[in-house]
Amino acid sequence: MKQELNLKEISQWELYKSRPLTICGPCSAESEQQVMETAIELAKLKKVDIFRAGIWKPRTRPNSFEGVGREGLKWLRDVKKETGMPTAVEVANASHVNDALKFGVDVLWIGARTSANPFAMQEIADALNGVDSMVFIKNPVNPELNLWIGAIERVAKAGISKIGAIHRGFSAYEHIQYRNQPKWLLPIELKRAIPKIPLLCDPSHIGGAKEYLFELSQKAMDLNYDGLMVESHINPEVALSDREQQITPVQLNDLLNKLVLRDSVSNNLAFSDTLGELRTQIDLYDSQLLELIEQRMFVVKTIGKYKKENNITILQSSRWEEVMQKAVLQGELKGLSKEFINSLYKAVHQESINHQNRVMNS
Ligand code: PEP
Ligand code: MN
Repeated sequence: MKQELNLKEISQWELYKSRPLTICGPCSAESEQQVMETAIELAKLKKVDIFRAGIWKPRTRPNSFEGVGREGLKWLRDVKKETGMPTAVEVANASHVNDALKFGVDVLWIGARTSANPFAMQEIADALNGVDSMVFIKNPVNPELNLWIGAIERVAKAGISKIGAIHRGFSAYEHIQYRNQPKWLLPIELKRAIPKIPLLCDPSHIGGAKEYLFELSQKAMDLNYDGLMVESHINPEVALSDREQQITPVQLNDLLNKLVLRDSVSNNLAFSDTLGELRTQIDLYDSQLLELIEQRMFVVKTIGKYKKENNITILQSSRWEEVMQKAVLQGELKGLSKEFINSLYKAVHQESINHQNRVMNS
């Protein structure tokens, strides 16, 4: 219980001057020239808060470019001197943390492959003890909320107060439109567990291709995220990693200019009144929905009793198929998507089976 309290106390530290906080720069530091040229162009935009570059690259397969290592930390130190932008690197073990801090890196982030590994997270947390840097924790590659919370918890317990989370999507086995599945509900659940944690979106690693960056960034802004981490390279075509998803500083400027930023609260009284009324209606419908489902479950339990008395199985596939088909057709007429009806009915069906199971085995 105490741990949960700790997390709720993570406060919205002074994160940024204006929303969104932007952490931008190349996927990887490749050469002194590439790093400096990219940084100078990004600094000119006056929209990038923190300059990022990967120094140690966790690659899925060996023999890919695995980063320039410590050498790159000097380039980042020069970037800070030249442009004034604070710098950020990814750290995956204690020696990365120590090296990065030695070279004056301001912001550390923990990648998706590392946050999935509690041993690595603990090693990093121990190395962070007593340090006063900003630390961002990306979601683990697998969609497990508690693993993400656990990684944050380890860093918080090391005494780091400026902690943020980065949503970069989750690995997918099947081929999907994006490189990673966004699963927007997970970061929303994270905010429910740790309400004040600053949340950034990484559209580059979710999308995996330039053309998706804007729609993903806009969605993050509409969901009230605090910031964005976007990969930007002076010459993406020759990038040594994540070539398809990197954009030039000029393209980044366009993307940031195009974003529509909406307020999460309003001072306009008439607006708040109307919104309040509409929300009351939503609350009413929501409670009716639950009452209906409750009534459905009463009937389900009665059927369960009959099945038990007559020694019939709970699941009857043909009946279930029929219910689902009817619902999809009816849903379509009401403007509800097939995907929605499918997942709604699967959930209702599963709950019904659970109820019947209890009746049958009582
Ligand atoms: C990166 O930011 O370049 C990176 C490797 O990200 P992720 O950990 O999200 O894959
Ligand atoms: Mn990358």
